[in-house]
Amino acid sequence: MEPTIVSGKEVSNKVKDDIALEVEQIKVNGGKVPHLAAILVGDDGASRTYVNAKVKACERVGFGSTLVKLDADISEADLLTEVQKLNNNPEIDGYIVQLPLPKHIDEQKVTEAIAPEKDVDGFHPVSLGKMLLDLPSFLPATPAGIVEMLRHYNIPTEGKHCVVIGRSHIVGSPMSVLMARNAYPGNCTVTITHSRTQNLKEITNQADILIVALGKPEFLTADMVKEGATVIDVGIHRIEDSSKKSGFRLLGDVKFDEVAPKCAFISPVPGGVGPMTIASLLKNTLLAVKLNG
Ligand code: NAD
Repeated sequence: MEPTIVSGKEVSNKVKDDIALEVEQIKVNGGKVPHLAAILVGDDGASRTYVNAKVKACERVGFGSTLVKLDADISEADLLTEVQKLNNNPEIDGYIVQLPLPKHIDEQKVTEAIAPEKDVDGFHPVSLGKMLLDLPSFLPATPAGIVEMLRHYNIPTEGKHCVVIGRSHIVGSPMSVLMARNAYPGNCTVTITHSRTQNLKEITNQADILIVALGKPEFLTADMVKEGATVIDVGIHRIEDSSKKSGFRLLGDVKFDEVAPKCAFISPVPGGVGPMTIASLLKNTLLAVKLNG
């Protein structure tokens, strides 16, 4: 079977084009131009790449952007002061603190210090609580991006069995909530699996839709997938590769070449979920202006 490639690159470009049009309209009407800020602590290569991509995406859609770069040895108290500054800055509509943070800083404490009305990553307990209650809020960017991809490709979800691999607070858990809610995409029967799950292969073989977010390169193999399934690969791994200019290549959590022929739909890495995460962040920032303006 030739699978349909679920191109996050393509869908995210469409989302960005739509946002850019809306920003133009805001400018014509003299409204508040959305402004996204990011705090980057330390000099981790992957984090820097992600933050730079976010700043570039802001430029593309006409948002304002601010990058706050802080030293890796900044104290937790000083970081919390920076967070408060962004909370109190009326120019900034939304902001993110790029994770992971250095070990000496409590990520949960920092996440909870972000003003919920500016929490465009959707990680604050208020955002997650509103999501559970189907109230308008900032959906966590990666799961929201996956939902957008499923919608764009009209992938049937109602009554389907969705198996999520991974139960992290930023991907697996919220993904399971979104796929179960009474909406499209949604209305799935959801099974959430994790590191203590037994007989994982038996479960994944029953999945109509598989969302793979466990963080292990090429973990999902063809024998774990039912014929005709939809597979969404969330994993991102930098694998050293001296033949590449960057010195690395990207792999997902799915062994793409052998899984793809069994699928009706499959998302690649790179060019799948990654770009959608950024598109969702921009959507959330626009929503912040609407909710708070
Ligand atoms: P995490 O490490 O926080 O969580 C991994 C989860 O997988 C855990 O809940 C764990 O119980 C489960 N798990 C581990 N081993 C397992 C196994 N053998 N069987 C079943 N479950 C198992 O990871 P995360 O933050 O959710 O990220 C997962 C992957 O997605 C990573 O590769 C990360 O880089 C990537 N990611 C990508 C994006 C994006 O924008 N594309 C965003 C966030 C995360």
